[in-house]
Amino acid sequence: MDRTLLTAFLITAAAAPAAAQQTVATLPPPVIEDPRVAALRDDALANDHYAWDIVEGLTTEVGQRLAATEAEARARDWAMKRLTAMGFANVHVEPFTMPVWTRGPESAEIIAPFPQKLTVAALGYSGSTGPGGITGQIAYFPSVDALRTAPDAAVRGKIVFIDHNMQPAQDGSGYGQFGAPRRQGPTIASLKGAIGIVIRSIGTDHHRNPHTGVQYFTDGATPIPAGALSVPDAEQLIRILKRGRPVTMRLTLVSEKHDGGQSGNVIAEVPGRDPKAPILLVGGHLDSWDLGTGAIDDASGVAITTAAARHIMDAGRPMRTIRIVWFGAEEPGGFGGNAYAKAHGSESYAIAGESDFGADRIWRFSSQLMKSDPAAYAQLAASLAPLGITKNDKGDADGTDVEPTIKAGAPWVSLNQDGTRYFDFHHTPDDTLDKIDPVQLRQNVAAWTAVLATLSGGIESGAKQPKRR
Ligand SMILES: [Zn+2]
Repeated sequence: MDRTLLTAFLITAAAAPAAAQQTVATLPPPVIEDPRVAALRDDALANDHYAWDIVEGLTTEVGQRLAATEAEARARDWAMKRLTAMGFANVHVEPFTMPVWTRGPESAEIIAPFPQKLTVAALGYSGSTGPGGITGQIAYFPSVDALRTAPDAAVRGKIVFIDHNMQPAQDGSGYGQFGAPRRQGPTIASLKGAIGIVIRSIGTDHHRNPHTGVQYFTDGATPIPAGALSVPDAEQLIRILKRGRPVTMRLTLVSEKHDGGQSGNVIAEVPGRDPKAPILLVGGHLDSWDLGTGAIDDASGVAITTAAARHIMDAGRPMRTIRIVWFGAEEPGGFGGNAYAKAHGSESYAIAGESDFGADRIWRFSSQLMKSDPAAYAQLAASLAPLGITKNDKGDADGTDVEPTIKAGAPWVSLNQDGTRYFDFHHTPDDTLDKIDPVQLRQNVAAWTAVLATLSGGIESGAKQPKRR
């Protein structure tokens, strides 16, 4: 931490009465925001257009970017061109291979007792029904634990249906618990002899949009067709089941999976004045699910962190190098984050953080610096407070992509976005550009700009950028 950026001052309590003086003396010294950090932050808040340009461009000119497909390859080309045009240095792709899963035709319909169509989407790495589909009786479970404790006989030869009651939450905390039907349901159903599974979408909306998402078959489970019904369709199925008669569904989920798919991380830098100084690592993920255009998940994340780095570059040359990573293949299981940590986990980092929870306003932050560098933590808190962002001393690291690098030793920072409406759109056809509020997007850019400026080690204005390669 560059002390020139830390402008803490002590209250002088000369005028205070003796009792008050004692109280004041036991308090830690207050920290005020650095005026240069404040100026950069406020400029980003008022004027940023870099983030909108990236999220609008990527979602319009590429669209969906399913991992390890030709669409994701086009997205990497787009990213290379954009990051180069924005003036970043050392722009390159680091490729890796992975199993690729792609979606084919899919449908669900009730055959009996009340024939009708339902909306469905396959989950990632679902087994395929083949074009003819499968037909079976529905075995209903109110939770994944109810399925876990059911006798195999209640499931064998049937199509399992799992319900849950996920509600919106600012911190998105329902996703951990209520995501279990998607993450564990298919494996449990398969091990008990089910021929397929549908779950109530892991979502908080009431639109007829199924929410896809990844799952894996573990513990030797044979892959079976696994899909998500939209929330209104799941509720419809429950009403039909409550009539007390056996319910038969025809389920068609065609998909393909093969090994050796190509993905990659796109990396760019703002070179620091001191190449040996620990790096500031920020980013988001370039890939998306295939149903929408991946605007909030996660074009906005790469856009926000890249825009922040560009604001630093506009101001001059930081002491520390800022490295931006547009991670590949996050959705099918964090392949890009793992590949990055394998190649770069042993490098020295000042901080690692990512934006991957939409584009609504940041309301809270936390960081490991609270323990490892309390002065820097206090300075971060002071620079974020004017944006309405509170500090959370009990927060944890989050983010699939930086997690392996953090596990390898990098200190972390987490900026928590408001997740109240995130799971209305997450992994659905509704994840599109119009869901992004430009005002809240700029607040995100301002916050990350404040973080990078605070931890930059000082920005030398007028310092020449090194030649790009
Ligand atoms: Zn994401």
